[in-house]
Amino acid sequence: MRPQPNSLYARDVEYVLHPNTNARRHEEIGPIVIDRGEGIYVYDDQGNRYIEGLGGLWSVAVGFGEKRLVEAASRQMAKLPYYHTFSHKTNEPSVELAERLVKMTPERLRRVFFTNSGSEANDTVIKMVWYYNNAIGRPEKKKFISRLNAYHGITIASGSLTGLPANQRDFDLPFLPVKHVTCPHYYRNALPGEGEEAFADRLAAELEATILEEGPETVAAFIGEPLMGAGGVMPPPATYWEKVQAVCRRHDVLIVADEVINGFGRLGTMFACEYYGIDPDIMVLSKQITSSYLPLAAVLISQEIYDGIADNSGRIGTFGHGFTASGHPVPAAVALENLDIIEEKGLVANAARVGEVMQSELRTLSDHPLVGEVRGVGLIAGVELVADKATKAKFDPVGRIGAQVFAKAHEHGLIIRAIGDVIAFCPPLIITEDQVRDMVARFTRTLDDVA
Ligand code: PLP
Repeated sequence: MRPQPNSLYARDVEYVLHPNTNARRHEEIGPIVIDRGEGIYVYDDQGNRYIEGLGGLWSVAVGFGEKRLVEAASRQMAKLPYYHTFSHKTNEPSVELAERLVKMTPERLRRVFFTNSGSEANDTVIKMVWYYNNAIGRPEKKKFISRLNAYHGITIASGSLTGLPANQRDFDLPFLPVKHVTCPHYYRNALPGEGEEAFADRLAAELEATILEEGPETVAAFIGEPLMGAGGVMPPPATYWEKVQAVCRRHDVLIVADEVINGFGRLGTMFACEYYGIDPDIMVLSKQITSSYLPLAAVLISQEIYDGIADNSGRIGTFGHGFTASGHPVPAAVALENLDIIEEKGLVANAARVGEVMQSELRTLSDHPLVGEVRGVGLIAGVELVADKATKAKFDPVGRIGAQVFAKAHEHGLIIRAIGDVIAFCPPLIITEDQVRDMVARFTRTLDDVA
């Protein structure tokens, strides 16, 4: 249907360049205008209701329309709508949030730096690590190691850590000295007959060989999402993280856990570091920190890194990094209320319990002719669609069937995300067992329609 002249649809197509979207295709099909939300549901301006199977962009933990967050923002706006945290200024919500984050994250993380987005947080990580290594007299130790299919953001620096062609190709990325090692996806990357632990051994050996080849004196940090999200929802093979950590420690390479998607209960533990036994030097948090009602991200660092930075800034007079909105009181107040809700409603335990139902319901689709693999932990899952189940052959071109499923799901009142031909699920943590069954039933009908 052609949009009415001057309608919101027509003006969207006329004026907006959408992020992560095929612009020409968007001109053809136009937007869906999301108008309001309640619980796990959003409504478009035609009155259609959708289950938000991806919680927005992996992020709306407490669901849509949570009045307590609106009120927390409103109270803070009325009291102090903005102030910065440069030059010895601070404000109550940002201090309270920093203390709370330090107390709830792994023991070694002692200080918090706030940014607006996950991308800026990962840029901040790079700059902090460089500044720290300059400060402690090893200026040559600057390289980062990441993984293929990783997603760490889209700015010049964080986009260099990302390992996805669509975010790099034709943007001249990676721009920085980043090495990408194999993606720890067992289904796609294990050798025939290789067990999970043997696969993990091989990947740890590859990481070590990469560090040795580059020279350990030049490698600063290894960054990873504990469970890879936006690259296609890929939980690591058993023993992967303990082996990777051992390699990093051996060569004095910092470990950065990017928990932008994983953090605040997604896997059924408060942080994925807990789930996989990771003891990071740096942790990055965002998204569910405010349920994405307002933009906010946080970088947590160890005392050692903090001391290196503090000593250096004492010497040169300043730590010259920060954003206008670093420590903004309004998102910080929303984050505090959001964390209260997560705790009071037991949403981490809910993610574990209902997550098991979601995982087992989705795995009933393993026999579906289109489905190659169902994978995930807690309330995050990926369903990989393949042209041939036996050979795992991908559809040609990759992404076409994913796009069909994505579009068809709308007709069944379901929003999911297609990452190529992997369909991702990451619903709000408030979702109930019945709602999970309803979501998977809608998805099953979608797949049947497309098959
Ligand atoms: N890191 C991870 C693991 C992410 O999934 C994302 C976004 O999806 C980012 C970083 C970037 O966050 P933002 O989109 O807020 O810049």
